[in-house]
Amino acid sequence: MPLPADYHMHTPLCRHATGEPVDYARQAVALGLTEIGFSDHSPMPGDDFDNWRMFDRQLDDYVAKVRLAQQEFPRLAIRLALEVDYLPGHEDWIRRLAARQPWDYFIGSVHYVSDAWDIDNPAKLSEWKKRDAFEVWSSYFTRLTQAAESKLFDIIGHADLPKKFDIRPAQDCAPLYENFLTAAAGAGCAIELNTAGLRKDCREIYPSRQLLELAFRKGVPITFGSDAHAPEEVGLNFHEAISLARSVGYQQCCRFEQRLRTIVGF
Ligand SMILES: [Zn+2]
Ligand SMILES: [Zn+2]
Repeated sequence: MPLPADYHMHTPLCRHATGEPVDYARQAVALGLTEIGFSDHSPMPGDDFDNWRMFDRQLDDYVAKVRLAQQEFPRLAIRLALEVDYLPGHEDWIRRLAARQPWDYFIGSVHYVSDAWDIDNPAKLSEWKKRDAFEVWSSYFTRLTQAAESKLFDIIGHADLPKKFDIRPAQDCAPLYENFLTAAAGAGCAIELNTAGLRKDCREIYPSRQLLELAFRKGVPITFGSDAHAPEEVGLNFHEAISLARSVGYQQCCRFEQRLRTIVGF
């Protein structure tokens, strides 16, 4: 069985990743991957929103970089995608973004629980100390549920991102997961197994086994992603992610082409 596709990879256009798409593709081929997808941080309605994404005017450069990798590695399937931030009120902007290029898929991610706080930003770690952890997790999952319900996304990114710094509420978060996964199942939206969590303070794949077991029970499909911000991170810890997925019962994952989903074994 071939390794599942690595559907979450970045480019230097987001200003916090290194290596060109051709370098990521070369690494993917070396690892024996047969399919990858670039899903860099999308532009926002305003270029001054934050400093960790491509500018709107760079969207064509981004596509050109991915096309170059496709030309250089014709035997590797390389998908063109974006990791798009979900914020309530941005729906029309996201719809227009979807129409601008022939995207293969959109990963919808919640990083912002308000217009000002991206909860995974290490520079804003002090914000966590001002708030109750369960309130933050609840706000996050409310937005994540809205993201799934919006039907704007093929995949929801790193579903339990608030665990990144290992700041966890004492309360049981299962009801938050339930609401989100019911929405994802209803909207036909996949979730990703994102191995970047293993490289953060939480030392766990996103999402946790608890969330993934609920997802399996609700029939929510999955994809795999390294969230590589450097070529050497491509496919990192995929064997751990595969065994986690298999251990909760998954035998199939999704592929996307032109935003159409097919299901394959892994
Ligand atoms: Zn990033
Ligand atoms: Zn992300």
